[in-house]
Amino acid sequence: MKSIFISRHGGPEVIQFDEQPDPKPSYREVIVSIRATAINRLDTYVRAGVRGQRRNFPPPLILGGDASGIVVELGKNASKVNLNQRVLINPRITCGLCEFCSQKEDDLCQNFHMLGSTRNGSHAEYISIPESNVYPINSNIQFDTAATLPTTYLPVWNMLMRKTNLHSNETVLVLSSSAGVGTAAVEVSKKIIGAKVIATTSSDEKASKTLELGADHVINYTNEDIHKRVLELTNGRGVDVVVDHVGAEFFETAYKSLRPGGRYGICGVTSGYKTNLQMGTLFARQLGIHGVFMGSKKDMEQIVEKLNDGTIQPTIHQVFKLEQAQLAHKIMEERTFFGKLILTN
Ligand SMILES: [Zn+2]
Repeated sequence: MKSIFISRHGGPEVIQFDEQPDPKPSYREVIVSIRATAINRLDTYVRAGVRGQRRNFPPPLILGGDASGIVVELGKNASKVNLNQRVLINPRITCGLCEFCSQKEDDLCQNFHMLGSTRNGSHAEYISIPESNVYPINSNIQFDTAATLPTTYLPVWNMLMRKTNLHSNETVLVLSSSAGVGTAAVEVSKKIIGAKVIATTSSDEKASKTLELGADHVINYTNEDIHKRVLELTNGRGVDVVVDHVGAEFFETAYKSLRPGGRYGICGVTSGYKTNLQMGTLFARQLGIHGVFMGSKKDMEQIVEKLNDGTIQPTIHQVFKLEQAQLAHKIMEERTFFGKLILTN
């Protein structure tokens, strides 16, 4: 089958487009014919071999996690999915055996695999995947749209619906609203929870797109001070919840922008891992900090439900052919995009 893979770490030029062996399903797996697959920051880290993603070659590794397609073959013991079913693929494969998996807290499972990172991924014509990782999508849902969801909406859902429990009468600060997690956080906060949304971004063009998505206010952090502007917009009170997927760059200013008792959610550190935490204000202002990594199978079910009923309409920046993966990686690293980058078969 045609696939996008790497045989060594490096820049976008190490990405190869060529034949790899067709996958075979094991007992509870199914083969999905991939129709669309999204690119995430993780894919660029895996390609470059940074942030804990170094691996030994050979064998080569097929990149990619998030995807959608059609079930074309069932493993011997696969019984929950039908042939020809249109599905979305959750790229996080949990063990199903640990204390967390058995209590349906599978987002806490530490014995997990990620497609395109610890096993062959979705940037290919076919993939073999446990049947518990595929979710039926309605016939009117585009494959491109479905493929955008898991890696951006799972952490957002986990963070806003569960960990920080954002309410409709509250205000959320979404950092860097142009990336996949940012647009998903604006959408979920507004359309599903109904909260007031303050977002930050880096250009006037991105600011107007963020307002179109439903944000109430947008702060252009290249010429405005985030903390000062948040206080102005909240009458000096601060926000109830922060959604951070950026890490070091904005932590201190966003953390200061929380109201007493506010909740800080973090699900990514694209700008750096380390920061200064003022522990005095942490207890004196009774703040909560919540680390979030992807989400549970239950979260995924709820997200797909909202996709199928038309509530969730993810933002896509550009759709490429599978063989254009090098170009898509370059665009992701230039950070000039707004929404998701998709590869199609
Ligand atoms: Zn587990």
